[in-house]
Amino acid sequence: MGIDQQPLDKHRILDEPFYIEQGNEVQLALAAYRNRLPLLLKGPTGCGKTRFMQYLAWRVKRPLITVSCHDDLSTSDLVGRYLIKGNETVWVDGPLTMAVKSGGICYLDEIVEARKDTTVVIHPLADDRRELPVEKLGKLFLADPSFMLAVSYNPGYQSVLKDLKPSTRQRFVSLTFAYPSTELEQQIVAKEGSVDTTLAGQLVKLAQMTRGLKESGLPEGASTRLLIQAAHLHRDGVDLVEACRAGITHSLTDDPDMLGAMDEMIASIF
Ligand code: ADP
Repeated sequence: MGIDQQPLDKHRILDEPFYIEQGNEVQLALAAYRNRLPLLLKGPTGCGKTRFMQYLAWRVKRPLITVSCHDDLSTSDLVGRYLIKGNETVWVDGPLTMAVKSGGICYLDEIVEARKDTTVVIHPLADDRRELPVEKLGKLFLADPSFMLAVSYNPGYQSVLKDLKPSTRQRFVSLTFAYPSTELEQQIVAKEGSVDTTLAGQLVKLAQMTRGLKESGLPEGASTRLLIQAAHLHRDGVDLVEACRAGITHSLTDDPDMLGAMDEMIASIF
């Protein structure tokens, strides 16, 4: 027991994370948690999904174990594996097993990126069985009542979720995130970027202009995260235009025409 709890302690969120609610996502997620339903967070990158999960974990007082999925992420990375320690072979729980056994929240960020075989372990956890089969141990763990599974994905991209059986997929409670409204995003950038509201408002305006470039072929406009990044660069003494270029526009595209158009946007605002 002690062994299981110890690694979880560092995943506990003790101080309230700064989170501005966009709609009724907190009420929905709390209801999902109480009813032991898994969460599906949809939305573009950098719009607050991870921060929301931190806030939720703090609200329900459960540890949050976040796994950033990548194309090499296998079932063993989630579930666990045997490792050689000295001349002994020991089993080490993966993040998902840890959360299942100890009642944490396991957040699989950008699940789209994970290998398809990972859906096999998610299936029985996401439906009302709430079980985790660990083949290598020959065991089936029943999730602790406090356990929650949450996954995020960006609907702009291809989705591994289509490989989930509709019966499983349809058990997720879906929360759709978008960029916050102008006023909220301005508050967020001011607070997180430590800049005044006027500058925060200008950065938000720039972001909104880049988001309008979707029709011209820009896959995704500037996220709230990029605005905060530019604010940090500027606060550290970087010239504002340079901060916007390095912190925002050049992170969005390499296309010279697109970058030229964005330079004009920057010039029109600052
Ligand atoms: P995602 O997980 O959607 O890619 P994040 O949650 O990492 O995005 O958001 C990026 C950053 O934007 C956060 O670190 C936080 O500073 C800020 N942020 C975005 N939305 C909010 C919000 N609603 N309240 C507070 N901060 C936010």
